[in-house]
Amino acid sequence: MATAIELDGKDVLSRFKQEFYQPDGRIYMDGNSLGLMSRRAEAKLVELMHSWKVFGIDGWTEGTHPWFTLAEEMSLQIAPMVGAKPHEVMVTGSITSNIHQMLSTVFLPTSERFAIVVDELNFPSDIYAVESHLRLRGLDPKTAMRKIPSKDGYTLEYEDIVSHLQEDVALLFLPSVLYRSGQLLPIRNITAAAHDKGILTAFDLAHSIGALPHELHKDGVDFAVWCHYKYMNSGPGGTGGLFIHERHHHLEPGHAGWFGSDKAKQFDMDHRFSKAEGAGAYQIGTPNIFSMAPLLGSLEMFEEAGMAAIREKSLKLTAMLRNLIKEQLPEFVDVTPNEDNSRGGHIALAHPEAARICKALKQAGVVPDFRSPNIIRLAPVAFYTSFCDVEETVSRLKNIMQEELYKNFTNERNVVA
Ligand SMILES: *Cc1c(COP(=O)(O)O)cnc(C)c1O
Repeated sequence: MATAIELDGKDVLSRFKQEFYQPDGRIYMDGNSLGLMSRRAEAKLVELMHSWKVFGIDGWTEGTHPWFTLAEEMSLQIAPMVGAKPHEVMVTGSITSNIHQMLSTVFLPTSERFAIVVDELNFPSDIYAVESHLRLRGLDPKTAMRKIPSKDGYTLEYEDIVSHLQEDVALLFLPSVLYRSGQLLPIRNITAAAHDKGILTAFDLAHSIGALPHELHKDGVDFAVWCHYKYMNSGPGGTGGLFIHERHHHLEPGHAGWFGSDKAKQFDMDHRFSKAEGAGAYQIGTPNIFSMAPLLGSLEMFEEAGMAAIREKSLKLTAMLRNLIKEQLPEFVDVTPNEDNSRGGHIALAHPEAARICKALKQAGVVPDFRSPNIIRLAPVAFYTSFCDVEETVSRLKNIMQEELYKNFTNERNVVA
């Protein structure tokens, strides 16, 4: 087997590491929660602030990236990353606000079909959004929200998903990659099975966008939502994104606002809403320009590197990580699925002392990610994690376990663990 040094020597993406700031020189394994800042992201933010400085209000139409069409400009770059047609994607909102917007637009319950199927492992915000939306529609989440159970507490089984596709279900809404275990669901098969029964499908791509390629249009997904601050490295609170399949573009936005207008008519200030064509119609208010600017810099790197190379390296990094852990640290239970086509960009390890092992790792110069109650997530990111970093992470973790250094900490999570 090739050594870490050899793998780094052959790594076609190794040049990108120096483009990222590495806080405190630590090995950063938390890019699945908040990606690191790159010099190019920083430069684009400064560039757009400069437009404000020199153009004032004319920055909406002047400068290198006029603000009035910035979201549309960036959406063209994001579309290939999710396998969408250019007019099916919009950079806007946050995951949660986009769930609300898409539900209010695409979910059209009738007395026969009114239920939304979710899963019991999903991220809380997605669940809160679905529940509150059902209530707004006069439906009771107790009967209208169905949760697919997990047998092992970490992953979902295809048969359990399919068995929930019943006659009164209107929409199936699942994560592409489960945020705890890193399980990647078969989007194409799930969508086909749901459509067979007349059920719409939607996916939350929070843990897959920027980590692996997608084919949302070809797969026929009805809508999808995501953020850009995880693997896309757009910075905290960076503006999110949505995909809405072109077959739904005739729908009026459930939540309309003037930035959903046809651009040519927006400044007519007419009280009759002229909907934009395509996904732009589902924007609401004025875009957050400075929360979008860093993504411009980040996207340049994605275009240069290519998603195929990013996914290839990511799979190699995570494979190396889990193999070393299996060999050297058998007390950790690796709960991420085995097959490459069933896993995303991180590895999840279960251990009863997970919370304080994470604190010890941080002290030892490795930034992990803890998810209550017992999961350590490690995300080696193709852009800025080397194979030597992976080896070093395992070596430090081994030392923590051998020396019982985690016992210097309490096994509770901090406010932001
Ligand atoms: C990160 C994440 C969120 C966060 O939602 P925001 O609206 O961007 O704060 C929601 N859902 C999932 C599955 C996530 O991974």
